[in-house]
Amino acid sequence: MTDTDSKQVENVIIVGGGPAGYTAALYTARANLNPLVFEGFQWGGQLQNTTDVENYPGYPEGIMGPEMMSQFRAQAERFGSRFVTDDVDRVELSDGGIQKVFLGDEEHRAKTLILAMGAEPRRLGIPGEMELGGRGVSTCGVCDGAFFKGHRVIVVGGGDSAMEDAIFISKFADELTIVNRRDEFRASKIMLERAEEKENIDFKTPFVPEEFVGGEDGKLQTIRLRNAETGEQEDLDATGAFVAIGHIPRSEVVKDQVDTDEDGYIKVEPGSTRTNLGGVFAVGDVVDRTYRQAVTAAGTGCMGALDAERFLRDSPPPVEAHWFPGGEPAEIATGS
Ligand code: NAP
Repeated sequence: MTDTDSKQVENVIIVGGGPAGYTAALYTARANLNPLVFEGFQWGGQLQNTTDVENYPGYPEGIMGPEMMSQFRAQAERFGSRFVTDDVDRVELSDGGIQKVFLGDEEHRAKTLILAMGAEPRRLGIPGEMELGGRGVSTCGVCDGAFFKGHRVIVVGGGDSAMEDAIFISKFADELTIVNRRDEFRASKIMLERAEEKENIDFKTPFVPEEFVGGEDGKLQTIRLRNAETGEQEDLDATGAFVAIGHIPRSEVVKDQVDTDEDGYIKVEPGSTRTNLGGVFAVGDVVDRTYRQAVTAAGTGCMGALDAERFLRDSPPPVEAHWFPGGEPAEIATGS
């Protein structure tokens, strides 16, 4: 039997390959639960798009995001975690029964499931945004800011992410305009003040981009703005545009099967990782709209592993874990 044979009922399947997923893998592997991790095609999560991580405890000199994710993965692998480097297509969740995860037609079964799919940057959904991605339009200031040395750049958004991106990119750009749809800013006072103090940063409110327009060279040249109150249009020439308007949880694959809030964040019982379904746990940024840090994601990944372990300890094995329709015996995964 192969590691991922479809008849095997795993103790735990983890969906997601960021700090939360790998930490859940590490803990469940050390508990001899032999986890199977669907880490995603672009494993590593948002940290794959980050440069220096300076605020993860234990790295006094800082570490590059992708290098940190390689180390998380290697540590989980050391204790026997198995990885599938692909995105899950579909799941069938059960309340206390067998959880099913599908990769195309390939079905994987488990007694517990830890959802750790993370979040992705929210987009404006306007013409030119995707077409000019990597050609002037970006969602990651820390990744791409350094390419804009001497350029005129805008940052869209009024939250802490927009301020953080603007402060970082202003080290490279000649001129930077923060475009916000309201005159008030959602950002914390200290972050807003830091941005205001920068000589090459100015603010344009209440405006929203309506279109990103490319030049003859195929790169961003102009941003068409609309006054959110008067509707009046205005063009602003800039060669860089950073969209920093928040994130959306990657909960699409479990939509309508597990309880989420109105924005799609998976709901868990306060102080735990338990969802409304027995045996299904959720951790990391797919749950967390507030903190969204690597260290908090790793912390909840650990909680998810411990919750899954307790669930397995305290629940009698579901009937389907032993027998399939037709009486065919299934094999129960054992620790390695
Ligand atoms: P956020 O706080 O939700 O702010 C999103 C911003 O984008 C808001 O100004 C919002 O405007 C605007 N926006 C949303 N959709 C838009 C659209 N379609 N068009 C134009 N503007 C749009 O998100 P965030 O800045 O990513 O921060 C998320 C969390 O992480 C926060 O808790 C934040 O404090 C934290 N964080 C902290 C730091 C730090 O302390 N160093 C850094 C980054 C993030 P409205 O205000 O009008 O809704």
